[in-house]
Amino acid sequence: MHIWDSDECIGIEWLKNSVMMTDIWTSCLHIIRDEVGSRVVETWFKAVMWDGWDAIAKTVYLRAPNSFVQEWVCKHYLSILQTNLGRLLNIDTVRIVFVTGPKEISKESSGPLTDNPVSAGSGIVANAKNEEKRLPAMLIKQPALSSYGYVNRSYLFDTFVVGPSNSLSYAAAHAVTEKPGCLYNPLFIYGGSGLGKTHLLHAIGNEIKGKNKDAIVLYQTADRFVNEFISAIRFDRVHKFQVKYQAVDVLLIDDIQFISNKEQTQEAFFHIFNSLYDAHKQIVFSSDTVPYTMSGIAERLRSRLGCGLVTDIHIPRLETKIAILKKKAALSATLIPDEVAYFIASRVISNIRELEGALIRVMAFASLTQQAITVELSKKVLNYVGQEKKTTVDFDTIVTELGRHFSCDRALLLSHNRSKDIALVRQVGMFLMKKMTDKSLRDIGAFFGGRNHATVMHAISRVEQELRFNQDLEQKIKHMESSLTSRY
Ligand code: ADP
Ligand code: MG
Repeated sequence: MHIWDSDECIGIEWLKNSVMMTDIWTSCLHIIRDEVGSRVVETWFKAVMWDGWDAIAKTVYLRAPNSFVQEWVCKHYLSILQTNLGRLLNIDTVRIVFVTGPKEISKESSGPLTDNPVSAGSGIVANAKNEEKRLPAMLIKQPALSSYGYVNRSYLFDTFVVGPSNSLSYAAAHAVTEKPGCLYNPLFIYGGSGLGKTHLLHAIGNEIKGKNKDAIVLYQTADRFVNEFISAIRFDRVHKFQVKYQAVDVLLIDDIQFISNKEQTQEAFFHIFNSLYDAHKQIVFSSDTVPYTMSGIAERLRSRLGCGLVTDIHIPRLETKIAILKKKAALSATLIPDEVAYFIASRVISNIRELEGALIRVMAFASLTQQAITVELSKKVLNYVGQEKKTTVDFDTIVTELGRHFSCDRALLLSHNRSKDIALVRQVGMFLMKKMTDKSLRDIGAFFGGRNHATVMHAISRVEQELRFNQDLEQKIKHMESSLTSRY
């Protein structure tokens, strides 16, 4: 069976070979007729048949009666076909594959359109740049199209690292797959960007399909839902649009915040929601914020969004980040030394997508230059990443940390007390602030009781000098840095 994705805007299996897809072709011919005249359509296009649509490869298969027609249409009307089919299917760049010869009846009647009958005759693959390329039939044959559609099969519960920052969302997501539609409905997962929301939505889809291959699971991002709805209105297919959504067993809507301020779409979605909810179909949302702070959402929809279980995902702590790095590296069959994982995890603090990006850069660089993955190499590669941490640690947190490590009173640190010990701790504070924040020397001086920037500069160079021979201090500063970064 099938997990639908947004790009399968009309991509429901039982509709594929029937009304909707041929509707697309008929609509396309209407538009082309307007553009190039009916004689062209009658002469050339009427001979061409819709042969299949592969939502995953974003490919339309057209069947021409012979290679002459195929080549003529391809040569003269390819871009017009691509533009209009792209619009109708709601995708940017549609690929068109021509096949020739008679259609194999058995395949048409039984299989979904993704099983394209390309074995008969030769084919031409046409891409957006109007290239035409003859391919042997075997190459045109579809890649193993799983029933999972667009749901990303690498986003599994197994590849998701659970830590305190995401455990509730993970547990809820998992629970949903045990009894879809019964336990937490809807499930609403919110959190910042790159923290694993999409991963969890896909994992739910994969898990449910794994347990029940007949379940109809649809993953959709809200912005594509909006686009799909707009094109449904445009082509007078709102009813079909509603029918498609109301037929699912599990609806996974990612980044629902993008529906805000789209009143008509909200209205349509409201009815879909009610119908699925009443039928005990599972609905899962992700968002960057909780329902009640979402702006531009009609009150009645907002209350629906939050009427089930709402869970959050935070930025993970250091240990979780290290575990994620190790898991990601292992998934690429690469072993990264602990200190490298630690190094990367302590540099990249804001989100996991960046963490992954940093790891990929390090692994790619090591592999391309055939070097071992070391901290030194990572430092070189991730030079830029170090900048990012500068905005997140604040002065107060640094002072609290100083107090903890040097057993020193905060008021004393901020005072004008000049005792040698206190002065050194204060200088360390200034050093850390310069290193870990993007504040100016002036800001730092002002924070420490209105000292000027020259004082701060002097403090920093004192600490740098001290660090050349004072290993104790070096250790302490390292500890503080890692404890400060692991908070974020
Ligand atoms: P979001 O949807 O919240 O913006 P994603 O789900 O797209 O974030 O996650 C970004 C990347 O980080 C993905 O590659 C995802 O696999 C990875 N990721 C996020 N959280 C985890 C986790 N806990 N374990 C493993 N990978 C994760
Ligand atoms: Mg996402």
